[in-house]
Amino acid sequence: MNVVTLSGGVGGARFVRGVCDVVAPRDVTVVGNVGDDLEVLGMHVSPDLDSILYALADLSDEQRGWGRADESWQALGTVAALGGETWFLLGDRDLGLHLVRTQALHDGEPLSAITARIARKLGVDAVLLPATDDRLRTWISTASGEITFQEWFVARQHRDEVDGLRFEGAADAAPAPGVLAALAAADLILLAPSNPYVSVAPILAVEEIRAAVAARTVPCVAVSPLIGGRAVKGPADRMLARLAGGTSPRHVARCYEGLIDALVVDESDAHDLGGLGDVRPIVARTLMRDADARRRLAEAALGRVLT
Ligand code: GDP
Ligand code: CA
Repeated sequence: MNVVTLSGGVGGARFVRGVCDVVAPRDVTVVGNVGDDLEVLGMHVSPDLDSILYALADLSDEQRGWGRADESWQALGTVAALGGETWFLLGDRDLGLHLVRTQALHDGEPLSAITARIARKLGVDAVLLPATDDRLRTWISTASGEITFQEWFVARQHRDEVDGLRFEGAADAAPAPGVLAALAAADLILLAPSNPYVSVAPILAVEEIRAAVAARTVPCVAVSPLIGGRAVKGPADRMLARLAGGTSPRHVARCYEGLIDALVVDESDAHDLGGLGDVRPIVARTLMRDADARRRLAEAALGRVLT
């Protein structure tokens, strides 16, 4: 069974690991968000692709919740001592990947090709594709003006309320090679429990990807990132309250109008399933606290096709 999952970083990566425990990883294609990409200290960083890579290669730091396990910070210490920019935390092991990717980009290799090469080297069997090889960047409108995604999320710790989003470059962005073919060959499309606004929307902002999902002939199942109306981590609940008018399953579903057939919601939200329209609710335990929980959530999302 071919499964395509659209995914952001940490939350999506955990889910994708679960999917790869249920379906042969070779049959899993992950389309990752690149709206969070940035240049820092002269390097190109793709945080969401890296979170997915590290999760699938079993290199993630589960305690910290992001980045690589057994990480050290010597290089950043030197950067700080020399007065360089340290607002975006880059560990030593992580830096190695950014160096390789940045050089390859300078040499003209597309992001998708570099990502495939790195995934292979790390022993990842799933296919990981950036949504696009073109430059696509998320901008956040706040009361104090429009700022880049990472300035809002990391430097300002997503303190500012979000009035709107803009995906710079999306209108001209083409899906990365392999994305449309994977969607066409999919038996099931999944939207990971990632932030709908800043992780999944930038992927769907690539017009041909959105159109392919909208025109699907196979089921598309989203997993809600909210549990009891609250984000497990990050600003998804505040964004839904402000931009969609609430944090119920119907507000999550509304982010994906016309794109999903089912929504996996947590048991703690099962009392509030009104207004879903044609979207079928799948009630499950959605907290991915360990490998078992991740696998069970993936099974719930995959269930309809597996049975
Ligand atoms: P980012 O790119 O690293 O910010 O990560 P994502 O956008 O992929 O994931 C962030 C979202 O994952 C947040 O909105 C969280 O609420 C959600 N999330 C994290 N862990 C879990 C979990 O165990 N279960 C569910 N349902 N959502 C989760
Ligand atoms: Ca992200």
